[in-house]
Amino acid sequence: MPVDVQSLAKRRGFIWQSAEIYGSMAGFYDYGAMGAMLKKKWENTWLKYFMGLDDNYYLIDPANIMPEAALKASGHVDSFTDPLVECTKCGHAVRADQLIEEVTGAAAEDLSPEQIDSKIVELNLSCQRCKGHFGSAKIFHMMFPLDIGTKGTDKAYLRPETAQGAYLNFKRHFEIMRRKLPLGLIVIGKAYRNEIAPRQGVYRMRELIQAELQIFMDPETFSDELDMKEMEGKEINVQLVDMRGKQDVQSMPCRYLIDQYKLPDFYVYHMLKIQEFYLDVIRVPKNKFRFYEKSEKERAFYNRVHFDIEIDLATLGGFKELAGLHYRGDYDLTKHQAGSKESMEVSLDGRRLIPHVLELSFGVDRNVWALLDLHLVDERTGVLKLAPSLAPYTFAVLPLMRKDELIPVAREIHTLLKNDFDVYYDQSGSIGKRYARMDEIGTPFCITVDFDGLEDNTVTIRDTDSSEQKRIPIDELERIARGLASGKLLFRDLK
Ligand SMILES: [Zn+2]
Repeated sequence: MPVDVQSLAKRRGFIWQSAEIYGSMAGFYDYGAMGAMLKKKWENTWLKYFMGLDDNYYLIDPANIMPEAALKASGHVDSFTDPLVECTKCGHAVRADQLIEEVTGAAAEDLSPEQIDSKIVELNLSCQRCKGHFGSAKIFHMMFPLDIGTKGTDKAYLRPETAQGAYLNFKRHFEIMRRKLPLGLIVIGKAYRNEIAPRQGVYRMRELIQAELQIFMDPETFSDELDMKEMEGKEINVQLVDMRGKQDVQSMPCRYLIDQYKLPDFYVYHMLKIQEFYLDVIRVPKNKFRFYEKSEKERAFYNRVHFDIEIDLATLGGFKELAGLHYRGDYDLTKHQAGSKESMEVSLDGRRLIPHVLELSFGVDRNVWALLDLHLVDERTGVLKLAPSLAPYTFAVLPLMRKDELIPVAREIHTLLKNDFDVYYDQSGSIGKRYARMDEIGTPFCITVDFDGLEDNTVTIRDTDSSEQKRIPIDELERIARGLASGKLLFRDLK
């Protein structure tokens, strides 16, 4: 019996549909007290890891609203669209490509409205809700337009992706950061898409969060900047195009992907880095992780190489895209050079070039969902087994009972730890119920103050993974907490 993650996520304070007291709008979600902390932890973990790939990678925070001219240049105004068909009887709106794909199993992204109309006739498709006929297919623009200022004359849009903000900021950062490549610009923030049919919970949202690293680089020298030795003897989980339908995932040597499959070595290097992030840091089981190759037809024309990063999620029925690794060439900066009339060329050792972009793009909401899906291990007990670095709260401080002798000591310990760690304090209800509550939100360690401890200045630490308890001196609590939180000290090694 699969765990009902959706209702658990709601009941435990992680995530639910926005504006629920007004009946909610599809595609918008609110993170609750636990969800907001979990999301922040994922973002911090992601940021630390990917910003750490190079000394010249930085976090920036561009505006969410972008002028029309910039999105015209990027191609979004003209082609950020989906094909739409509506039922002539009940008005039900459907993404035409998905409607056709569900029946034929073949990609329908490239069909024109006329081709869609004839496919609908050919396949005899009708409205799933009322069996009514579909009207003719239309091109639907997915950006949210805005009229800025009192006269509304400045046309703008909510950004459809965070990447554009990084491209617009490239030239200035290149100057500020002493004209070096590679230069990485990271944005973690919201993006907005007027999806025709938001569905599968947080998987397709109208307001979503992205975490993206745009690496601006010189394709001729980028490899020299990377430690290629790290790839020796390493393998990557992939599903190449010709494996589809035969094999979900196969582990392949980095060397094979570079030498025989002819992927750029810097691309494979970043595949390995992403895989290490998921397997070692996020602790995704190896058999649930893969890079899914997009065929030439499926990928955007400007992407020279494109693999999606997919994780096998029980709640979403199989491997689902959580991120993408895109080698976009010089497409973006060339487009913005043409649109803005500002030169995007840089000069390096006497060579002039428009830098190429390698984009590492992650959907934050999907990744947070994946944590709940993967780590909610037991429906009966509902224990959420998160790595200490990802748990909303790393520690809980609990007096064994609500007794006057215990509470001041527990309060003192809470005060001692809360500046350095995320610590939850709870003194109400039975200790068993409070442990269960911490198990449910993934708090890895509970520190309990009891009467024995008052005698000898100790507390107990309980490990959620094993529900084992150990007694430690209060004097050593800070040091031990630091070790456990960082993962440098394991609970089983505690004496
Ligand atoms: Zn209908």
